[in-house]
Amino acid sequence: MNEFGLKAKDATISDLGIKHFADAYWNLSPAELVEETIIRGEGMLTDTGALSVDTGKFTGRSPKDKFIVCDETTEKTVWWGDINIKFDTAKFDALYQRVTAYLQGKTLYVRDAYACADPEYRLNIRVVTESPWQNLFAHNLFLRPTKEEILKGIRADWSIICAPGFEADPKTDGTRQSNFAVLNFTKKVILIGGTGYTGEIKKGIFSVLNYVLPHDKQVLSMHCSANIGKQNDTAIFFGLSGTGKTTLSADPNRGLIGDDEHGWAENSIFNFEGGCYAKCVNLSKEKEPQIFNAIRFGALVENTEFYEGTTRVDYENISKTENTRAAYPINYIENAVEPSVAGIPKNIFFLTCDAFGVLPPISRLDAGQAMYHFISGYTAKVAGTEVGITEPTTTFSACFGKAFLPLHPTRYAELLGSKLRKHKVNVWLVNTGWSGGSYGVGSRMKLAFTRAMITAAINGELQKVNFEIMPVFGLAMPASCPGVPSEILNPRNTWMDKNDYDAKASSLAASFIKNFAQYAEFASEEILNAAPKIAINA
Ligand code: ATP
Ligand code: MN
Repeated sequence: MNEFGLKAKDATISDLGIKHFADAYWNLSPAELVEETIIRGEGMLTDTGALSVDTGKFTGRSPKDKFIVCDETTEKTVWWGDINIKFDTAKFDALYQRVTAYLQGKTLYVRDAYACADPEYRLNIRVVTESPWQNLFAHNLFLRPTKEEILKGIRADWSIICAPGFEADPKTDGTRQSNFAVLNFTKKVILIGGTGYTGEIKKGIFSVLNYVLPHDKQVLSMHCSANIGKQNDTAIFFGLSGTGKTTLSADPNRGLIGDDEHGWAENSIFNFEGGCYAKCVNLSKEKEPQIFNAIRFGALVENTEFYEGTTRVDYENISKTENTRAAYPINYIENAVEPSVAGIPKNIFFLTCDAFGVLPPISRLDAGQAMYHFISGYTAKVAGTEVGITEPTTTFSACFGKAFLPLHPTRYAELLGSKLRKHKVNVWLVNTGWSGGSYGVGSRMKLAFTRAMITAAINGELQKVNFEIMPVFGLAMPASCPGVPSEILNPRNTWMDKNDYDAKASSLAASFIKNFAQYAEFASEEILNAAPKIAINA
């Protein structure tokens, strides 16, 4: 039971009840963690020097296996249901014992990190991982304390124990299956087992902050990316997975604040994290140079494949998963802003990947529409690889991040609403999805066009053009936009068969209305009036 590395003299993981481990390495450098990973046969270097690993059976999060301990702290505050699944206190204690017992005799990796770039909200985190590359992930994604701070000793506000090799037994452990991520708000511990998917680590802390910040500090926590221009004009980009938060926030002409999780306090916004977690599918140097170039020594690439006989990553190969990822510290993006704090946003973009091809590539929202679309949190998923299935499915995830919200969505919506009333903010809905028809017929919006539309919105160029109102959804669509062919701005124009378009628009509108019913009782007249209008046929 030796504890080595960079740590305060008396710092020990015995405090966490972890005993009889082999060795614990504290705060190893990226180079040391890379070396450890390679020695253990758990990864290899790519030709650009990034560390390539497989996360194992799980290549994505497992929302059905995310639990929150239901006790005095959480019972009356958490929004219980299938997003926040109850876990019994005694079961948690027993599972904790079993996980720590499992770690006996193992080499462990310990990391001191923190979340929230604004010092007022700093949350210190201690991460104990079974594998060195998970520790590298924590190093890259969270904020990094200085050597001096670590040597002085940092009291962890929250701890994460990550044991991918531990398999739970649902019968005794109270889990659904062998993997789990359990949050305990009283003990301030996140216990992760049975899965090596690193995203569970970052989204675990995101869920914690989505509780702590709005509940205790009146700060709005947001599933969004953020960047800032030379005029100090902040823009934020909300959106569900795959809609473009990471891609669109990396803009050579603007400073990157963060790619996924932010807080909105009284006078500023701040990043929760110290790194990015980018999707890599079809990544190319030409289309996304900043992200491509960030995948170098110190970065972690997950579940990708190499071109045969080389160590060059083939980003088009998604045979392990479509969710291939790269994790790198934020300063690997050239114009990242550190500390990642900025002023109140001037522009808010709601990103949606509408695979039905119905929503306009960009539209301006009024106050009621902004709230309506925030609460709806719409995107679409394209069908998997099953032959013959081409119809996309709708996803409605409140606040563009329902899966990570421990409190009722209206808590976040109220906070956003009051901020929108207080500050003059332009709100835009951006469809990064299909144009010219639904998935299967049309094609995905060109990234260069989406970028041009966002630039025009930010520069104020879209304030000068005419708008037309899209029927049914009532969205204001610009008639022209620099750098974008005008004919694509109204999606109906891009469809061969206008009747098909109208039918698809009505059915999407009906899905919005059906989904919103669950929130209608909480919504004001102004928000309800922003709903799409369709003639309901029985
Ligand atoms: P997550 O929450 O899972 O991190 P995200 O919102 O950050 O998701 P991105 O990583 O930015 O999503 O993924 C968007 C993907 O869509 C990228 O692979 C990008 O190359 C691709 N893409 C294609 N066309 C567009 C477009 N017009 N706008 C934005 N992204 C596009
Ligand atoms: Mn992202």
